[in-house]
Amino acid sequence: MEELPNCPKCQSAYTYEDGNLLVCPECAHEWSSSDNEDENGDDQKVVKDANGNVLQDGDSVTVIKDLKVKGTSSVIKIGTKVKNIRLVEGDHDIDCKIDDFGAMKLKSEFVKKI
Ligand SMILES: [Zn+2]
Repeated sequence: MEELPNCPKCQSAYTYEDGNLLVCPECAHEWSSSDNEDENGDDQKVVKDANGNVLQDGDSVTVIKDLKVKGTSSVIKIGTKVKNIRLVEGDHDIDCKIDDFGAMKLKSEFVKKI
């Protein structure tokens, strides 16, 4: 059986899974386990799109406003589809490749999950 994280509220080790939720039998705290799926565990930052949907590596998004490409006169147009994003640390928290532009970093607040 895979190891479940301790309860974030009372640190109980007796947590169990209930569907997508983790449940603590000691303090009745329930929370989502999806943030803990990643291999590096506890401190995973949640990246959300403009609508508040949680983004994950491999997601496809569309750009929701024209974005100037730093150092060039190019603009990534609103509605541009971006496939297979990768979440990274930092101010621009999405690493991706865009057709005709190449490798690019975007801010999650300017995209929408497809
Ligand atoms: Zn608890």
